[in-house]
Amino acid sequence: MKIALHWKILIGVILGLIWGIVSVEYDYSVFTSNWIKPFGTIFMNMLKLVAVPLVMVSLIDGIGSLGNVSGLSRMGGKTIGIYILTTMLAISIGLVMVNLIRPGDFVSAEKKTELQEKYSSDAKDKIETAAKEKEKGPLNMLENIVPDNIVRSMSDNKLMLQVIFFALLFGIAVISLPADKTKPVRDFIRSFNEVMLKLVELIMAFAPYGVFALLASMNADLAMLSALGVYCLAVLLGLGLMVTVVYPLMLKLFSNQPIVPFFRKILPAQLLAFSTSSSAAALPVNMKICEEELGMKEETTGFVLPLGATINMDGTSLYQAVAAIFIAQTYGMELGLTEQLGIVLTATLASIGAAPVPGAGMVMLVIILQSAGLNAEGLALIIGVDRILDMFRTTVNITSDATVAAIIDHQERKREEGIHQA
Ligand code: ASP
Repeated sequence: MKIALHWKILIGVILGLIWGIVSVEYDYSVFTSNWIKPFGTIFMNMLKLVAVPLVMVSLIDGIGSLGNVSGLSRMGGKTIGIYILTTMLAISIGLVMVNLIRPGDFVSAEKKTELQEKYSSDAKDKIETAAKEKEKGPLNMLENIVPDNIVRSMSDNKLMLQVIFFALLFGIAVISLPADKTKPVRDFIRSFNEVMLKLVELIMAFAPYGVFALLASMNADLAMLSALGVYCLAVLLGLGLMVTVVYPLMLKLFSNQPIVPFFRKILPAQLLAFSTSSSAAALPVNMKICEEELGMKEETTGFVLPLGATINMDGTSLYQAVAAIFIAQTYGMELGLTEQLGIVLTATLASIGAAPVPGAGMVMLVIILQSAGLNAEGLALIIGVDRILDMFRTTVNITSDATVAAIIDHQERKREEGIHQA
């Protein structure tokens, strides 16, 4: 019997989680870290290895297929607009959850002191990293997008937005020239794109073992999970609402993708996001599925998904909103409506600025805390469960990207049909 790949990956996830718990419990951690973890790292490296070249060629190819700059700005405007809307919606859901559930009220004074003592040095590290970011001034985010050396940008997944910027410029140059002059470049890029997608397929054959190894060696602190259970519950309920209500509703209203098959098909990408905690690592698979299995057009996936992986992080922003208010609650501070609206704004920007790599959302959380006048040291309260929540929020991040891609794809097709009929 041939088992479909997504089931195999799911089995890998479940067995990995079980092994992870057993290995911590029965002291197999050294064995796991010596003999299992490396396979997880190898798998993650392979995914990241294809992410940058794939983003580069698929974006250029996508822009080439759009045909002109006005097509690009139409699609770009629409995509960014929808991304910002979904992010703000996610933050609002997070705020409702945290205000209703009030997880801060469930942390006793002893627990608070214990957490602060245990994680204060980790928190300081994050605060320092965030301070370096902040020192650079308000327009630094914009400055950061424009690379001075594309080879350097390509060497670091945190700089993916720079790669996107270069690919956009390159694509615009390609469509601004007469087609006969750019044919060799376009043909090369198209064929390169095909090869990269094949590469993703080959790597995915290793996915069930890769996710097993990643999860088996996670060393999650389960005791922490129960101590901060109500906070985790608030985050997870919010994230769950996005996946089970918001995205299905968006798909139903604004796309032609049937909901159940959509979610069944993107499952491998979600499981990868879950086990790697990195939108960048899950991106190649998300692109391949959207294009080949969900039938979206290459020019949509090539543009919408890489951009989404780097700037659209609904899960991250929802988590940041919950975490900020949770910290305020634990310190006995009540934030009013104006301050909470301020969080909607800063969390939107912070999630756009967060890199598609593990833990990035937490560093950006420092900036939200500081601008809301909260003590950034409060980060110590939530660090213990961040790794686990990162898995869930990254899954939501890439689900949102695929949903928006489905919507843009549908809109673009309808527009084309309208033009043909006219
Ligand atoms: N790990 C997340 C991602 O890659 C970012 C974060 O929330 O830390 O999408």
